Amino acid sequence: MGLLTGKKAVIFGVANEKSIAWAIAEAFKREGAELALTYASDTVAKRVHPLAESLGCELVLPCDVRDDAEIKTVFKEIGQAWGGIDILVHSIAFANKEELKGSFLNTTREGFAMALDISAYSLVALVKEAAPLMAGRNGCVLTMTYYGSQKVFPNYNVMGVAKAALEASVRYLAEALGPEGTRVNAISAGPLRTLAAAGVGGFNQIAGHVEEKAPLRNNISQEDVAGAALYLCSSLARGVTGEILFVDSGYNIIGL
Ligand code: NAD
Repeated sequence: MGLLTGKKAVIFGVANEKSIAWAIAEAFKREGAELALTYASDTVAKRVHPLAESLGCELVLPCDVRDDAEIKTVFKEIGQAWGGIDILVHSIAFANKEELKGSFLNTTREGFAMALDISAYSLVALVKEAAPLMAGRNGCVLTMTYYGSQKVFPNYNVMGVAKAALEASVRYLAEALGPEGTRVNAISAGPLRTLAAAGVGGFNQIAGHVEEKAPLRNNISQEDVAGAALYLCSSLARGVTGEILFVDSGYNIIGL
């Protein structure tokens, strides 16, 4: 029997086979979960449909998280098909490329609002609709963050602010959903070569630094994040909520 046998998991954020969300989907499937995937746009849909098919996943739905109506439709359809949800994975972030390079002073009002909307508020928006379907099932919500929420990294800029808001949202949501038995946690992942990471200027410099300075002297893989996701979303972590778990080869403990 797998760690997630009989569990129903909806995963937001697969764009391609390099996505963190995809590694999580594969691990959850291997451990017995039934999956639903969503995709942000028609362009992404072309890549997500074959991936979903390869895992025998029948529920594959469009969801641009800026659109409340689309979010409602997703949970309505999943509710009709499954009756309830045990796991919600939010693995979504976006900021304009121009705001992910150079000085933080270049951040625009519009760029700030968009980054915060897609990368932080979207967690709240999804959880609002998912909560009634998750209540009383010892369910788990999981999101993805980065250390740039706490410390300054070159070029991360407005995304660091968005991740700080996301991490605070994890704590407030954990308190709000705790009485219904739903846990809410985040993984703070080290740098990984994905589409989202390609948008951040100087990615290679950050990854090289981690490899040199992190206690484990390497960069993590998508599978390393998936392993931690499996733990947090299984009953092994039934006492853990409101937590930010670092999966970063230990980089965050280093002072100098
Ligand atoms: P990715 O590009 O594969 O995933 C980002 C996802 O966000 C994509 O699937 C994209 O379609 C989706 N998205 C963007 N705008 C959206 C919208 N309006 N509506 C719905 N979906 C939208 O990259 P990834 O690295 O797997 O990123 C997943 C999460 O992990 C993000 O929150 C990212 O900040 C976080 N993270 C990434 C790293 C890294 O180094 N790659 C490190 C720490 C945390």
